[in-house]
Amino acid sequence: MSGVSFFDSGDLVGVLTTQPLDRLLDYRAPEGGCMTGAFVEVPLGPRKVLGVVWGPGQGNFDITKVRSVIRVLDTPAMQGGMRDFLGRVADYTMTPMPAMLRLATRAPGLGDPPSMRKVYRLGRGAPDRETDARRRVLAVLRDYGGLSFTLGELAEMAGVSTSVIKGLVKQGVVVEEVAPRDVPYPPLDPTQGGLTLAKDQASASARLRQKVASGAYGTTLLKGVTGSGKTEVYLEAVAECLAQGRQALVLLPEIALTAEFLHRVEARFGARPAEWHSGVTMTERRRCWRMVGEGGAQFVVGARSALFLPFQNLGLIIVDEEHDTSYKQEDGVIYSARDMAVLRASIDGAQVILASATPSLESWANAEAGKYERLVLTSRFGVAELPQMAAIDMRAEALPANRWISDSLRKEVDARVAKGEQALLFLNRRGYAPVTICRACGHQVGCDQCDARMVEHRFLKRLVCHQCGETKPMPEICPSCEAADRLAPVGPGVERLAEEVAELFPDARVAVLSSDLFGSARALKEQIVAIADGAADIIIGTQLVAKGHNFPLLTLVGVIDADLGLQGSDLRAAERTFQLMRQVSGRAGRAAKKGVALLQTYQPEHPVIRAILAGDEDSFWRAEAGERQAAGVPPYGRLAGIILSSPNVQDVFDLGGDMARRDGPLRAIGAQVYGPAPAPIARIRGRHRVRLLVKVAKGAPLQGALAKWVAQFRLPKNLRLQIDIDPQSFY
Ligand code: ADP
Ligand code: ZN
Repeated sequence: MSGVSFFDSGDLVGVLTTQPLDRLLDYRAPEGGCMTGAFVEVPLGPRKVLGVVWGPGQGNFDITKVRSVIRVLDTPAMQGGMRDFLGRVADYTMTPMPAMLRLATRAPGLGDPPSMRKVYRLGRGAPDRETDARRRVLAVLRDYGGLSFTLGELAEMAGVSTSVIKGLVKQGVVVEEVAPRDVPYPPLDPTQGGLTLAKDQASASARLRQKVASGAYGTTLLKGVTGSGKTEVYLEAVAECLAQGRQALVLLPEIALTAEFLHRVEARFGARPAEWHSGVTMTERRRCWRMVGEGGAQFVVGARSALFLPFQNLGLIIVDEEHDTSYKQEDGVIYSARDMAVLRASIDGAQVILASATPSLESWANAEAGKYERLVLTSRFGVAELPQMAAIDMRAEALPANRWISDSLRKEVDARVAKGEQALLFLNRRGYAPVTICRACGHQVGCDQCDARMVEHRFLKRLVCHQCGETKPMPEICPSCEAADRLAPVGPGVERLAEEVAELFPDARVAVLSSDLFGSARALKEQIVAIADGAADIIIGTQLVAKGHNFPLLTLVGVIDADLGLQGSDLRAAERTFQLMRQVSGRAGRAAKKGVALLQTYQPEHPVIRAILAGDEDSFWRAEAGERQAAGVPPYGRLAGIILSSPNVQDVFDLGGDMARRDGPLRAIGAQVYGPAPAPIARIRGRHRVRLLVKVAKGAPLQGALAKWVAQFRLPKNLRLQIDIDPQSFY
């Protein structure tokens, strides 16, 4: 597929479009010809659509009706490696190619002429009056030798108000001009700003630099407790990659992480990287996409879909917090960004670094098997030590109803607050209460569209369905028995916990960190920075706080319900709980003061809880690996989930049953089919859901067999069949 040819004007070319068609379309090459990989605009019925020249035309259309490519877009052609990558992800995930191309072109107006904006660069002469502010502006412009900046960028970099720059423009010392919006990102300097590394950091970074310099593919698991300095180490690998003139990509699981991260990049390399995630504006998205393709972006920080940017010379991909579940895209193209990062790097001859304090069992097993190299940072950087961990046995605490903070935990929090330190209370449940029940008839208020209970959000003054996002006001009477004033909240969410905290600690300043309490990612970032600076005594947080933020004053973590994740039969329940508890506990004692993590649990003897407390990771992983191996499940066997959904409940069960019976193609490769069973959430947005699970030995040709199997059935109208290769969650 990677061969490149040139097609003369009028030659027949096969074009992959973003439209949901199951084949390439034939067109004639436009005037001036075009190359394989060229981004083009083609006519399709009355419309113009985006496409990529994929190869020669197939000639199986009526030749007299073949139309011409309208134009070749002014953007570098998609490289062979990228085409190869998209094809292989499509094969692996069983995704049609047009959907892959959509994923790879998710920026607006790629075909539009360049949009313009005002930029500022160095002019002539000297200002009439030298001020500090003016000197700083000119210093920035000189440092970047002739580059242009937007008003905002320049003001920020020089630390001046925009009026200072406008004043210099009046005198001609700075020139204002109109330039295309899609300008290159400021260059990064790999030689500046590195810290003096601790011994294990230095040897890890030397090894990574060596691997990056080799120019070949390889994957490294960089393991180290939170605060051990992994970020610092992998930025060294980025420096090497930049020095080699290749592009680097860092994937992060959570937008909120980037604020701190961007500052560190700036301190290390003198400028910020390009950003690609849902928090950047559409114009910035377009700039990022184009500059990555043209080589005007050396370093990109992004969410999982950044993996599908058109890098021209990708040398390094870092997947930070590689165990994070948000790397698995669960709808549309269902893929694991971590696994596909390894694929992309192997095609591009790039290095991958998977960084985590608590690697996934998959990566742990790959390292054990020698497929990945493993580098371990054993101590926390500087004086910070891992927190001491202990369980609070809730059976002995005799808590009154509707109270979740035990006396033991309360005393510990009080002690921290009295010393001016921070305490974090962790509860992985958004909203006020997970269940609203009628005390008269026992009815639980559910979502009309989904088979899920609605969660009360007092802050929003509404009930919210966490499956579909549907909201409604709190009913005044029970929807079932119509009794008035009998609806009551059951169980805690972070908002309710905040009420208890306010009662128990009336003088403390309390901050609640939950993704839904902030209007924007920016507001959330600001709050995190303020908390790190000491703006709160007690932090109440969901999973959001488990991820990477640095709170130097935090010395106590109290886990309100350590048993929460152990309920249910999810394959990864133990792994997830182990990781989450360790991540959260790692928030305590990141600076000079020693931290303590206390886990409230009703089952302190549970093997997972004991492994967490003992901090004996290797034995936990070995036990978990042993169980998975015995069961033939990932990473020692393979799974594929099939989800059938339809507004018609009969249809999904009929087809599911039929599929389970006619499983010949799967039996041919030794696979087993389980189900159909109603999905744990049996209805979402009014669609009934049924799951089948396919299990097979590693190495069996799963996708081919799945394709043959599925092709036997005709789908009734409105029935959707989704295939989830390597499912992570089983909702
Ligand atoms: P991790 O990514 O493993 O959680 P970080 O790289 O974020 O660890 O390091 C934890 C803290 O220690 C950060 O504040 C970082 O700036 C600091 N740090 C790490 N390595 C060094 C070093 N060699 N010199 C000075 N500070 C360091
Ligand atoms: Zn719903």
